[in-house]
Amino acid sequence: MSNIEQTLSIIKPDAMERNLDGEIKLMFEKDGFKIVKGKKIKLAKSEAEEFYKVHETKPFYNDLCEYLSSSPIMVMILEKENAVLANRKLMGATNPKDAEEGTIREKFGISIDKNSVHGSDSVDNAKIEISFFFKN
Ligand code: UDP
Ligand code: MG
Repeated sequence: MSNIEQTLSIIKPDAMERNLDGEIKLMFEKDGFKIVKGKKIKLAKSEAEEFYKVHETKPFYNDLCEYLSSSPIMVMILEKENAVLANRKLMGATNPKDAEEGTIREKFGISIDKNSVHGSDSVDNAKIEISFFFKN
């Protein structure tokens, strides 16, 4: 049975600032993802706080929201079979030091906070995150 899903991907400021968005999009496409929609935007800090609300009690929350709103990001809807899990696999572990070889974070991540990409962690959160950025 086929299980086509959509997930939300963000190319974060550290990667955008190094002009890695083209290379990262190619990695998605080579892995079989279709980039259904994409746009470059700059978030206000309040929008980053809303997006990352699940982390509001974490010690890194304020820095994370400052960072995500510090310069432009690329937000994309990615689609393929089991897209949510497939994207998490292609991204690699949150800390680039622990990310498997060939993953986006292993190749491009600088540190646990500047780890180049975001990806939804469940199908339910993918729906919430997609509607956050693509309201139609
Ligand atoms: N993060 C951080 N310090 C930490 C853990 C996470 O700065 O100790 C940042 C990092 O940018 C990460 C984001 O917070 O991507 C969200 O954390 P999460 O645990 O959801 O990781 P992800 O789902 O992005 O792998
Ligand atoms: Mg997460």
